[in-house]
Amino acid sequence: MRKQKIKRKDLKPGEVLCEYCTAKCCRYFALPIETPKDIEDFQHLRWYMMHGRVSLFVEDDVWYLMVHADCKHILPDNRCGAYETRPTICRTYTTENCEYDDDACYEKFFESPEQIWEYAEAIMPQKKKKKSRKKNKEVALPVLA
Ligand code: SF4
Ligand code: SF4
Repeated sequence: MRKQKIKRKDLKPGEVLCEYCTAKCCRYFALPIETPKDIEDFQHLRWYMMHGRVSLFVEDDVWYLMVHADCKHILPDNRCGAYETRPTICRTYTTENCEYDDDACYEKFFESPEQIWEYAEAIMPQKKKKKSRKKNKEVALPVLA
């Protein structure tokens, strides 16, 4: 069983911070994605987020898709059940700037399709003129219910 969470600064010499953690870094993965440039790109992002347990964040101007999914090797006591064969990314990850403190701060962070669409509406042109032989039609962004 894991020890009750302590403050990082209270870690004693020889102790490992992970012993006090609920394996936060093993419960998601994030992939860089192309920066959305037009409303179709935002439609795709909105679609990603409709699947649930997905977030978007921006760090150093790079957009990331974050998938909230537990690694299948997390043991009931939050230790790694595949320690000897864990992937390189797990081996090279350190506690130095890890998620332990819950103090992550992103340039941008979106948790729902509504949020990303609200952002798209705010930064994209609201209406475009569409040429038509009959008349000029105004095309507005779809309004979400
Ligand atoms: S590296 Fe950090 S987030 Fe991951 S298990 Fe250890 S303390 Fe928790
Ligand atoms: S393999 Fe182990 S260290 Fe890597 S994400 Fe899974 S539980 Fe965490």
